[in-house]
Amino acid sequence: MDANKNRIKARLNKKINLEYETSNRAAFLYIDLSEASMSYLLHASGVVTGSLSCFCLACDAFLQSARHATHHVGTAEHQQKAGAVQLSDKFPHDHIKKFKRGYYCEFCNVLMPIASKVNVHITEDEHKHNKGVLLLKPLGLDVVAFNNVLIEEKAWHGLIEGVCSLCNAEFEDEEDHKADAEHSLNLVLKPIQFAADNAIFRHLDDTASQCLICNKLLAPGRMSEHFVNAEHLEIYAKQHIETNGACRGTETEEITAVTENNDKVDDCDNPPTENFEKDIEEEETRDFAKANKLTYNKNNKKSFCRICEVHLPASFKSIKEHVEGTNHRRLVASSTPSTTEPKDPGNLSKQETIKFIKSTVDIETPFNIVTIINLKYCILPNSLSLIWKNDSRIRCVLCNMNLPPHSNVSDHINTRQHSLKWINVPVITSERNEFIREVHPGLYHCGFCHLVVSGWTDMKRHLECSDHVQRKAVWEQRLRDHKAGAQEFLRLHPQTVFVQLMKMLNE
Ligand SMILES: [Zn+2]
Ligand SMILES: [Zn+2]
Ligand SMILES: [Zn+2]
Ligand SMILES: [Zn+2]
Ligand SMILES: [Zn+2]
Ligand SMILES: [Zn+2]
Ligand SMILES: [Zn+2]
Repeated sequence: MDANKNRIKARLNKKINLEYETSNRAAFLYIDLSEASMSYLLHASGVVTGSLSCFCLACDAFLQSARHATHHVGTAEHQQKAGAVQLSDKFPHDHIKKFKRGYYCEFCNVLMPIASKVNVHITEDEHKHNKGVLLLKPLGLDVVAFNNVLIEEKAWHGLIEGVCSLCNAEFEDEEDHKADAEHSLNLVLKPIQFAADNAIFRHLDDTASQCLICNKLLAPGRMSEHFVNAEHLEIYAKQHIETNGACRGTETEEITAVTENNDKVDDCDNPPTENFEKDIEEEETRDFAKANKLTYNKNNKKSFCRICEVHLPASFKSIKEHVEGTNHRRLVASSTPSTTEPKDPGNLSKQETIKFIKSTVDIETPFNIVTIINLKYCILPNSLSLIWKNDSRIRCVLCNMNLPPHSNVSDHINTRQHSLKWINVPVITSERNEFIREVHPGLYHCGFCHLVVSGWTDMKRHLECSDHVQRKAVWEQRLRDHKAGAQEFLRLHPQTVFVQLMKMLNE
């Protein structure tokens, strides 16, 4: 890459960072269309592509070849017809359009006669993968996935604390390493994969994959668990951005060029050092690893942490960094409960939800339903119930379980099991203008942001971050908008849903 291009990218990146700072990552980003792959541009214009010829679903017209099709989508007549067809709002995130001849998936170039087939189709791995790949876009030096989640430059390059997980080698200078040809080749060869739960990961080798959201290595057996754990979801929420979405531009060349090439690209060879020094270093590393319950394998230059189930390069530096990392320390602490440091400072005043909540009123707005609690807080009903919904995935934060996709959330909320836990969740009353509950010991839920933070120190930090401040301001405005309505409702229906719930539980 020439220097000029680098400079432009850096400038673009800087501008976007500025936008993040000023508008809380809700920047309306425009991404260049010019890099989209040709066939995807046809699909996005309503043209089904076959082995040789094509068919325009918008105009109901046969097109002899891709060249004819490319010409066709440029005509005013087509653009008018295609422009009138919107993405189906039944499947808002899956780029499905309804034409006279059926439902068409732009990502997969698949035409389906009825909506129920689409329901099945969008849960299939192939669709998830195509969607992920086609929506992957460069944004400055970072990358955006699904049009709404930012993969930071370091994660994209697989750089974790001085170690490149793509090259499986340590590096001194980050910029030098990224410019290295072997690193660039690895970047192209190691495929990005997409799976259920919006998982975005890179398959490194048989022993490790990398979560691109957390920039963390995962053992194969830990994958599915990782993508639904609270810490990952928390980071996912932080990386959320808004883009113009309408743009279909993608840089697919790099991804489609990927072969399932498992012929391992050789590890960067360490420069020859004196063997004596090397032996001592290896011995120290081995002892250090052992003392911290990590296995150490000098032959394949790997170590494995049994506590975190993570593979690491077997260097002293990376093992030390891992052992001192917050994740590892947290897991160690939780497996030896007696030595756990207190998770909250002890001066928090708390009150059980059942005692704290005096009234709840649900208000239907043109866009969604909001819940007003004690005429003082306005939040999402799912935030109050502690249910996370993301596309078709539904998770109860309180019961720590996934609910079947598309299931009725209120069925779960009304179970005795959930309700009994829910009424006993402590509300942190010392933060009077916040709605924070301690959903599990040491895990705090912010009602306005509907996210969970581990440890009170981090929660305090969250309350000061601009994301939270801005979201809270939005909810306070909604409270002002709907308070009078809620008051009126309570006057007419003094017995609220909440009281009914208590009655139900006492039966
Ligand atoms: Zn057409
Ligand atoms: Zn599809
Ligand atoms: Zn590298
Ligand atoms: Zn993750
Ligand atoms: Zn560990
Ligand atoms: Zn539950
Ligand atoms: Zn918050």
